[in-house]
Amino acid sequence: MPAISRKVVPYEYSYLCDSCKGGMMTCIGEKTEAGFPHKCVICSHKADLKAEYPHIEYYGEDEPPAL
Ligand SMILES: [Zn+2]
Repeated sequence: MPAISRKVVPYEYSYLCDSCKGGMMTCIGEKTEAGFPHKCVICSHKADLKAEYPHIEYYGEDEPPAL
């Protein structure tokens, strides 16, 4: 099989704090049954999230992201 390539576009996904509405949530540990532990960089509010933030996903140019 030959190697193939295609052009992709990176999308950065961040999660804003539910408490102060302005801080970015950053992952502070390993995934648990509750999710990925995160902490707000501004108010230190903690939350378990379904994915790790911030993170980057790549999509094909003709394949727009779902979110
Ligand atoms: Zn906050």
